[in-house]
Amino acid sequence: MESKETIAAISTGMTNSGISIVRISGDEAFLVIDKIYRGKATLSGAMSHTIHYGFIVDMGDTIDEVLVSIMRAPRTFTGEDTVEINCHGGMFVTQKILATVIKNGARLAQPGEFTKRAFLNGKMDLTQAESVMDVIQSQNEYALHSSIGQLKGNLKRKIEGMREMILYHTAYIETALDDPEHVDMENYGKELLPVIEKISEDVRRLIESADAGRLMKEGINTVILGKPNVGKSSLLNALSGYDRAIVTNIEGTTRDVLEEQVRVGGIVLNLMDTAGIRETSDEIEKIGVDRALKYAEDADLILYVVDASRSLDENDEKILDYIYDRKFVILLNKSDLNVQITQEILQNRIKEKYEENFIINISAKNGTGIEEFVEMLKKICFRGELRLNEEVYITNLRQKEALQRAREALGKVEESIGMGMPEDFYSIDMMDAYEALGTITGETVGEDLINEIFSKFCMGK
Ligand code: GDP
Repeated sequence: MESKETIAAISTGMTNSGISIVRISGDEAFLVIDKIYRGKATLSGAMSHTIHYGFIVDMGDTIDEVLVSIMRAPRTFTGEDTVEINCHGGMFVTQKILATVIKNGARLAQPGEFTKRAFLNGKMDLTQAESVMDVIQSQNEYALHSSIGQLKGNLKRKIEGMREMILYHTAYIETALDDPEHVDMENYGKELLPVIEKISEDVRRLIESADAGRLMKEGINTVILGKPNVGKSSLLNALSGYDRAIVTNIEGTTRDVLEEQVRVGGIVLNLMDTAGIRETSDEIEKIGVDRALKYAEDADLILYVVDASRSLDENDEKILDYIYDRKFVILLNKSDLNVQITQEILQNRIKEKYEENFIINISAKNGTGIEEFVEMLKKICFRGELRLNEEVYITNLRQKEALQRAREALGKVEESIGMGMPEDFYSIDMMDAYEALGTITGETVGEDLINEIFSKFCMGK
């Protein structure tokens, strides 16, 4: 169990704003607030889940006019006595209130410590705790919806269901091994096999959802390919304007290109800006394409822009050869002009390799075709299944790795059954799967991992 030290932090943002919240949690939360709050009554006597007007004072000096929320354990986020001071949102005044709180008995909370306590006090499992951060970091509707689903316990229930099944059957085997005279194991393998296969299939589906989950959460790493002057920059502009979304420039972390983040139809595209590669002379144009192809190597998606008013040349051939086994969309731009290249021509060029039509006529200049492009994006990146539904997506690598371990262990169980091995063989692997799944909900994780997970949280959460 966590030590019951009372902790405090600023739970709102670190810039001046209308209101800030200083949160206090722990056994002494009311003791601390009583020392620094002046109002109609002392707050330690107040009813739970009430809010009180008054002032925060430090040794006789009034610091700010505040509203204080009183929430008693266990019906609080952390499961502990909790006080939230709503003060004026200047950083100076907020920090001064926090300092006063700390001077009067609380200690500064570590990042994620409130949520860590919520987890340790059994208010939520690890999937829910992790989803708290996902909700905060959500950048689009799909990611937010999926995070809220996880916060509500969708993933937790799924994992718990699987674990219950595994435990039930493991217990049966163990009992039978202990008491062979009374518990019948005849043909048990045959009975167990479909159960294990079903769990294994559910685990596989969750693993599969991880790709979509990652794209949803982090955005689709996208490279725009195409020769100079085909309209790549114009496309970028058209996409940026589409949602009237915020377009941000973020420095590429692993490479020296700029990444631009745009939101189209609720989907976030992390666009590698290869515009810098644009050069003029023919020889350099070729080098430019080569370099852009290199960037495309670990992209989730390639947008290949073709100028429909000009015929294809060897650079286009090179790109077409390159993209054939990747996720791509060909955008036939400048469709408002006299077109030389049609969808059919391109379709024939790539016919052997694809069945689906990923070629769209657009005009970056007029903004036509962009909507169709967005629909196609959803189809390609989310197998058309990207809807605001109750489907559970895995969005985090830790969960995915645990699922893979579980799947491996379940595979071994299937194998042992197939080979007619003795029952105690299954139960070892079943317990491995049980354990691996337990790391997802946090039932079977060590303190180190817990500390590591919560250290990635933001301050005050
Ligand atoms: P980039 O070199 O690939 O980034 O190409 P730009 O976006 O700079 O566009 C090159 C030229 O093509 C510019 O003069 C654009 O105005 C023009 N252009 C881009 N898209 C279209 C389009 O859809 N229709 C027409 N008619 N012109 C376009």
